[in-house]
Amino acid sequence: MTSAPETEELTPPDRTLMGPGPSDVHPRVLRAMSTPLVGHLDPSFIEIMDEVQELLRYTFRTDNQWTIPVSGTGSAAMEAAIGNLVEPGDTMLVPTNGYFGGRMESMAERAGGEVVHVDAPWGEPLDPAAVEEAFATHQPDVFGFVHAETSTGVLQPDVPELTSIAHEHDAYVIADTVTSLGGVELRVDDWGVDVAYAGPQKCLSCPPGASPLTLNDRAMDKVLSRDEPARSWYLDLSLLEGYWGEDRSYHHTAPITAVYGLREALRLVAEEGIEERWDRHRRVAGALKAGVEAMGLEMNAPDEYWLPSLNAVRVPDSVDDGQVMEYLLETYDLEIASGLGDLEGDIFRIGCMGHSARAKNVSYLLSSLGDALDRQGAAVDPDAGVAAMRDSL
Ligand SMILES: *Cc1c(COP(=O)(O)O)cnc(C)c1O
Repeated sequence: MTSAPETEELTPPDRTLMGPGPSDVHPRVLRAMSTPLVGHLDPSFIEIMDEVQELLRYTFRTDNQWTIPVSGTGSAAMEAAIGNLVEPGDTMLVPTNGYFGGRMESMAERAGGEVVHVDAPWGEPLDPAAVEEAFATHQPDVFGFVHAETSTGVLQPDVPELTSIAHEHDAYVIADTVTSLGGVELRVDDWGVDVAYAGPQKCLSCPPGASPLTLNDRAMDKVLSRDEPARSWYLDLSLLEGYWGEDRSYHHTAPITAVYGLREALRLVAEEGIEERWDRHRRVAGALKAGVEAMGLEMNAPDEYWLPSLNAVRVPDSVDDGQVMEYLLETYDLEIASGLGDLEGDIFRIGCMGHSARAKNVSYLLSSLGDALDRQGAAVDPDAGVAAMRDSL
């Protein structure tokens, strides 16, 4: 037998989180997460569950009864959406314009679905004409798209147009709203989205652990009338109904602390007002964008598709993105991220989400990034960046 490992008390570095998530957590959320546990069927917890569901409906802009936090990260909510809605033999149409469309594809295949694609290059949104064409060719049963593509910094416009196309073909729409919920305009009911999933650690600024999911009655009817049960027992919505629906009976132990945290994060959304929160993200991220552009850098996405919560900035020629990130982390305790997939090495991904979407963070980011690039000999003007940020705010 080995002896007991010697370790020290946990003292993580005090980072400023401006990457693709997690974002900085509001102190009220951290406090809520250090309050005592109750049982997952305790009457006081049942009340909390009701409140979380009500707050989630407000944040998603939906009246969907079927609105719950899924135990797990955003990918768990994603797999709950796809794994329940897609039945063996169903065809799912997925996008190719970013990293998360690829994850949708893998999940649809594991659910027994056939996958077909609507193509668009990384860094561009889907064109409704291409979606229409894909529907005419393949007649998919389910259409998935990514509202806010965290890998490319692209915000998908024309959502109501996309959902109309799908509904004209009697298909169901699943929207990945992981990086839009609570950060950029999202109207599940008005826009005709049948199923939307998200994560707490992006624009809600809550630690990962319980992830928002909403389904309308039409989608839930399909889920409840499946020929064979969903392949995952843990994420089977027909079973989860027992816990989150009327009965409140045991399915699995809810991550109590994560639900406390989500509740507080959603209360902050409600206190601010959802539309004011969308405006704040545009305003503060707008100042970030003005700052990086004035410094001499270029945004990867054109202004029409700019995603305030995730700013993809081109890496200047001759600059090593890895060295910049390392310098920022070591010198400034500041986290940003590099590009993924087709954009690896080409972009920095700078988040501006939730509690991180503040003038304080943006100002810190601009001066730190300016310093890091300057040290690598890039032709940037950090002072001009900070000045443009000030003017923009
Ligand atoms: C982060 C993210 C996910 C996955 O969420 P995890 O919490 O990492 O599991 C899915 N889709 C998008 C668009 C994301 O940004």
